Amino acid sequence: MFDQAALKAQFPILSLFEKGHPLVYLDNASTSQKPIKVIEAVNRYYREQNANVHRGVYGLSERGTEAFEAVREQVRSLLNARSYKEVIFVRGATEAINLVAQSWGRANLVAGDEVIVSEMEHHSNLVPWQMLRDQLDIKVVKWPINAQGELSLDDLAKLINPRTKLIAVTQMSNALGTINPIEQIVKLARKTDIKVLVDGAQSISHMAVDVQALDCDFFVFSGHKMYGPTGIGGLVAKQDLLEAMPPYQGGGDMIYSVTFDKTEYNELPYKFEAGTPNIAGVIGLGAAIEFIQTLGFKQIASIENDLLKYATQRLTEIDGLRIIGTAKNKGAVVSFVIEGAHPHDLATLLDQDGVAVRASHHCAMPVMQKFDVPATVRASFGVYNTCEDVDRLVDSVNEALDMLR
Ligand SMILES: *Cc1c(COP(=O)(O)O)cnc(C)c1O
Repeated sequence: MFDQAALKAQFPILSLFEKGHPLVYLDNASTSQKPIKVIEAVNRYYREQNANVHRGVYGLSERGTEAFEAVREQVRSLLNARSYKEVIFVRGATEAINLVAQSWGRANLVAGDEVIVSEMEHHSNLVPWQMLRDQLDIKVVKWPINAQGELSLDDLAKLINPRTKLIAVTQMSNALGTINPIEQIVKLARKTDIKVLVDGAQSISHMAVDVQALDCDFFVFSGHKMYGPTGIGGLVAKQDLLEAMPPYQGGGDMIYSVTFDKTEYNELPYKFEAGTPNIAGVIGLGAAIEFIQTLGFKQIASIENDLLKYATQRLTEIDGLRIIGTAKNKGAVVSFVIEGAHPHDLATLLDQDGVAVRASHHCAMPVMQKFDVPATVRASFGVYNTCEDVDRLVDSVNEALDMLR
């Protein structure tokens, strides 16, 4: 039998009380909580290992560099990238997408070229392309979602034309929970030379990802949504593309040699890692990957699928509640609106019961516009959530409705 209580006990914050009630944390799509293993790895780094990497010849710095590079290998292995050269550390998914837009985009796109962006994207995978559009006079083409919050491959085939250069799409939607068929999307793109950027900010903590099997060109993620620290994430991309791309930022670490007139850039992956990196964040990310791999994606899927099923069933029983995002293939995210109750009022009342959910546009305003709602309440689950958490949510919603209606 799987020991759910022991798993939850690994997360110190989950034993806290909020407004006099044991905290029920259901905002995992915003950021996940951190297991003691991650907190201790970051703590130990500052207590015992702190020194800059790739610079010192003294023991402390050499050990730090080894630990730092070992995490790069962990990321490579987690995502099955071909080489450590394909793993670039950045601040998070947002920075990774901006890097691709500004470096690959400016080097490869010209006026009139088209980038297809799905309608369910997080602002982080839309705004950088709009900025590039304004800089280069390219087109950002919307790949619309249907009433269930799903994308259609037939629609995509119709949008593709000789000017299409890139498809930017999330593997799992933070606002709707929809899981997208990345392999088929890439297959379509491969018929011509269209690149595919996959936003893995949500998917990486919920399912096994193999970038070689997906055959995507760019894959981006954030550490803080996979039980790791904030301020660290990655871009995993095909080596030949990275080799041909110009650096995104200039500074230390990304150089091979510098004269006052000219700079030779470092090799991959360092060419894209200007400045002192978030070393503690990388060390914490390594511990988070260990946590995920120890638990295993089979167990993660089993926990989260049960939670999704139970939450969907219990919430559907509530009178006037409408779930936004009912895709057939869906992760453990339930967005909903309730007749006669504004999402913000609802979330504020839930907070009084110690239930933390998000009420907002979830950084996906086009999705809210599509469903014609200003915001939704979103319960998003992590591995430590339980059916009792769902019961607390549903009880609290029912009490709130008694007050609001
Ligand atoms: C959170 C999120 C992002 C942005 O991640 P940051 O960590 O804020 O950079 C991008 N896409 C999706 C789908 C997300 O959920």
